[in-house]
Amino acid sequence: MASPSIITLTSPGSPAALAPQTDSFYGLTREALEAWCTLHGFSRVHAKTLFRSAYKALNPEPWSAPSLPRACAALLPLSLSSAPLRLVAEQRSGYDHSLKFLVGLAGGREVEAVLMPETKRLTLCLSSQVGCAQGCVFCHTGRMGLIRQLSTDEIVGQVLLAERWIAAHPEWLQQVRLPASTRISNIVFMGMGEPLDNVDAVIAALRILSDPFGLALGLSHISVSTAGHLDGIERLYAALPKARLALSVHSTDDAQRSRIMPINKRWPLTEVVDRLRTILGGEGPPVLLQYTLIRGVNDRLEDAEQLARLSQGLNAKINLIPLNVVGPSRLSAPSPEAIKAFRDLLCSHGLRVMVRYSKGQDIAAACGQLVRDANSQSGSSSSGET
Ligand code: SAH
Ligand code: SF4
Repeated sequence: MASPSIITLTSPGSPAALAPQTDSFYGLTREALEAWCTLHGFSRVHAKTLFRSAYKALNPEPWSAPSLPRACAALLPLSLSSAPLRLVAEQRSGYDHSLKFLVGLAGGREVEAVLMPETKRLTLCLSSQVGCAQGCVFCHTGRMGLIRQLSTDEIVGQVLLAERWIAAHPEWLQQVRLPASTRISNIVFMGMGEPLDNVDAVIAALRILSDPFGLALGLSHISVSTAGHLDGIERLYAALPKARLALSVHSTDDAQRSRIMPINKRWPLTEVVDRLRTILGGEGPPVLLQYTLIRGVNDRLEDAEQLARLSQGLNAKINLIPLNVVGPSRLSAPSPEAIKAFRDLLCSHGLRVMVRYSKGQDIAAACGQLVRDANSQSGSSSSGET
């Protein structure tokens, strides 16, 4: 909400305090909201009330909570923006129960978020960037290049958008056989973008999403997937030692990995994994090693042996993902027999292995299929707001 009397979180009297500010309510951690309260002469305890109202109660005007002082309730929407993300479209898969949201951002860009119901979990796959700079050859999002970073409130906003959609569609929970009033239980940063290339915004979002007075999603329920952005990994674990990482491995051969994942030239896999062994250790928080199986590229049994070796010294789980073919491509997934043989070899090393067939393939919601054509990003019609 625009206002001429906008106030910033910087100290009063500083030139910046007079400048129009862009702080967004949904981009503030509880600590930052406490600072806002203190700066404006209110008790910091109101930050807890605001968090409960915004994230637990999903109140679109969290400052209307009855226990907030009137002056605080009046100033907050003038001081902080809270523009909702637009739900441009939703698409239900007929193949599994996943549901893709096309989310409109300020400025006209769009990203995608995917809700994936399972027997006892409701997982939301989030985007962290519009496009991605990393250019992995098998990934559709990578073909867009990086268009822009998402802000913290745009990351958190995807969760609120999905939570509000679920609350407004109780019949959907019935259809997917989840108990009434189920809330999102898990989050994966596996949508558009490389989250650790936008690490500050992602760390703040993790703090907000895991806050006990808000959605209270434990960090063990939130996976940050990375192609191996070592700077981001260092910063993530320095800020949040209990964060959960999913590392996209896809090849253990240095030259080949550099060919299919250019990020490997900057941060070679061995360097990344060595650092993870030091940060996490074999008994530390689990790390998920993701391995997209591509026929004739990385699906030999020797590759499986190398992957088993790589996982030593880590508390590793392995996800094998048969390639989703995106657009015109010479790449394809291995046969079911080859996938099984690859998995069996890893299991024979005592490793925990899952073969993950991506969800939502018929609605292009599967890994590597999230792409918004830069040309299709303007003039979309809105089908609702959150
Ligand atoms: N940028 C992050 C997270 C987003 S991609 C990363 O790369 O980890 C989420 C996952 O989808 C990654 O493991 C990625 O390698 C995988 N992926 C991308 N394209 C794919 C495809 N065509 N088939 C299967 N998995 C794919
Ligand atoms: Fe970016 Fe991940 Fe796609 Fe690679 S796989 S281009 S890092 S989104």
